[in-house]
Amino acid sequence: MWQGTLCKMLIQHEDPLSYTLHDAFGGPGLELSDLLGSHLSLRHNNERRCVHCGSSTNRLFGEGSCYPCFTTLPQNDICILKPELCHYHDTGNPCRDAAWGERHCFQPHVLYLAVSSGLKVGITRQSQVPVRWMDQGASQALPVLRVADRLTVGRLEHALAAHIPDKTHWQRMLRHELPEVDLMAERQRVLDLLDGGGQAELLEPRIWSFTYPSLAWPTKVKSLGLEKLNRVEGRLMAIKGQYLILDNGVINIRKHSGWCVQVEVLP
Ligand SMILES: [Zn+2]
Repeated sequence: MWQGTLCKMLIQHEDPLSYTLHDAFGGPGLELSDLLGSHLSLRHNNERRCVHCGSSTNRLFGEGSCYPCFTTLPQNDICILKPELCHYHDTGNPCRDAAWGERHCFQPHVLYLAVSSGLKVGITRQSQVPVRWMDQGASQALPVLRVADRLTVGRLEHALAAHIPDKTHWQRMLRHELPEVDLMAERQRVLDLLDGGGQAELLEPRIWSFTYPSLAWPTKVKSLGLEKLNRVEGRLMAIKGQYLILDNGVINIRKHSGWCVQVEVLP
């Protein structure tokens, strides 16, 4: 019923959130919200395509890249994972693509607090608000500070990393155990730790909330992957972050970027 090359699912901020399976090369999407409770089959047809250049490849790197794209494109550079390592100004090791870097990294970025598996601190481009939080499976988020570029916000986050986790425990997030967190009090703690944030602009404290589509949450989380299984099949019980939660395990769709699959609804 749907055939395409997987990449990050599109998420709309509705109540509950609405999800669309998205084709990396612009083909039609598949609305998932109506399929909650259905038996789904995702079958891999043994083809993988680089989501950047479209070439067929036996092995994908990072999030759906062929090896040449993984080693040359700026979006696959280490500083995208670790913004404090931005080397745009390093003449000996310049940005892989200065024009891309100027567009992507020299634009407003936000430092935020979120509750996913627990409290976490993170950063995102302002244009990715609130998409970033829904991609991570956050139940709540609170933007704290805004700065003009990625390196500055990366340094702020790095300074906080010793005090506040910056990672999500994905199994706990998928079990939907929601810890009690006083985000307003944590915001004050961040401002104290950063001594006000320097040049950063303080944002209006607004707490965002996200409700994920679900019939039930798993008590045990088993990861299903097309690397090992040719077909992933089960009843769709919930969708959270970039995961489809089936009654027999979970599959991270974003992690399967570049995999060509057929999705069917089984009777
Ligand atoms: Zn490529």
